[in-house]
Amino acid sequence: MHELSLCQAIAGVVKSHAAGRRVDVVRVQVGALRQVVPDSLSFCWTLVRDFAGMEDAELELQLVAGAVSCRSCGAEAEIASRFSVACPGCGSADVEVIRGEEFMVTSIEVGEVEVVTSSKGTEHG
Ligand SMILES: [Zn+2]
Repeated sequence: MHELSLCQAIAGVVKSHAAGRRVDVVRVQVGALRQVVPDSLSFCWTLVRDFAGMEDAELELQLVAGAVSCRSCGAEAEIASRFSVACPGCGSADVEVIRGEEFMVTSIEVGEVEVVTSSKGTEHG
């Protein structure tokens, strides 16, 4: 199962950052274009976290809508469909995906401490 291997990857990242501490929250950014089923991901996480000894770790998904920059009309627009990245404005397929392909652990909470795991700046609160 696709989501199961993703969860195993998440657990690996979390474990290395937690360094043996108890993990309370794991925040993962998931782009809409990643073909990930959030419910399925959450379910797989409950299996993987127990196996990884992180029974308390809640998975928090931050869903990122897909967006494209169109080379034909210059528009930057969110796309509603996850199966097509054509420009919503003019219908052109000559687009650059600027958002929606994210999949990364952005931060974890161990005890009272928040550990930022991504090198990119992310907003909190
Ligand atoms: Zn366009």
